[in-house]
Amino acid sequence: MRFLITNDDGILAEGLIALKAELEKLGEVTAIAPDRPRSAAGHAITLHKPLRFSPVRLRDGSLGYASNGTPSDCVVLGLSEYLGAKPDLVVAGINLGANLGEDLTYSGTVSAAMEAVILGLPAFAISLAADPTAMAIAGTHDYGPAARFAARLAQVVVKSRLPSDVILNVNVPPVPESETRPAAVTHQGRRYYESRLERRVDPRGRPYYWLGGQVRQAPEEEGSDVAAVADNRISVTPVHLDLTCYAFLEEMKGWEL
Ligand code: MN
Repeated sequence: MRFLITNDDGILAEGLIALKAELEKLGEVTAIAPDRPRSAAGHAITLHKPLRFSPVRLRDGSLGYASNGTPSDCVVLGLSEYLGAKPDLVVAGINLGANLGEDLTYSGTVSAAMEAVILGLPAFAISLAADPTAMAIAGTHDYGPAARFAARLAQVVVKSRLPSDVILNVNVPPVPESETRPAAVTHQGRRYYESRLERRVDPRGRPYYWLGGQVRQAPEEEGSDVAAVADNRISVTPVHLDLTCYAFLEEMKGWEL
């Protein structure tokens, strides 16, 4: 099997190497990722400046590729004739930080998987639901359970095949494997953030704004990705690129437009 892997945390991210190590037990892995962290890049692509990539030595000593582009750009480059034979599967991750609920619409990791599907290849995104603001010193987070699950899922996906416009969004709870409960197939839930925009004043007295905010613990909807991870389960959500709300579409047909 051949795999293309990417992420939005950058080519030096630990999660990318953990994923690579497990997938290499199944076949050949090519890694191409942004040359710097691009979390929350969404599905941005680079249209108005040169897109570049160059070989780099990865943390494991092997050869990978770093690009000045976004995660989605990396998928386009990775699937081009400039990077060799087409893979059987594209995997984005392992992202540091959950991609649950509305995070999906901001996530460069999830968007990279979507880009692969748009280009006709099966793909999934995988994230470790650990605190991304914790100091990212090597070894702080254990990517092992997520990497091993990714390798297992990769085999299932290649064998079972996904519908042509569907990606899988995987979130792994940040607990030891012994405490992880069986994986759950989930739907996209809601994640509630508190105080998303903060106003501060810079040393020259001018206001600036800081986007972010803490996740507020809200009652989790049963069967959702949020609930599964809170329950120490690996959450696997099938996500399709068709954003149409079919239920409401029917009601809207009754509107006078
Ligand atoms: Mn990220």
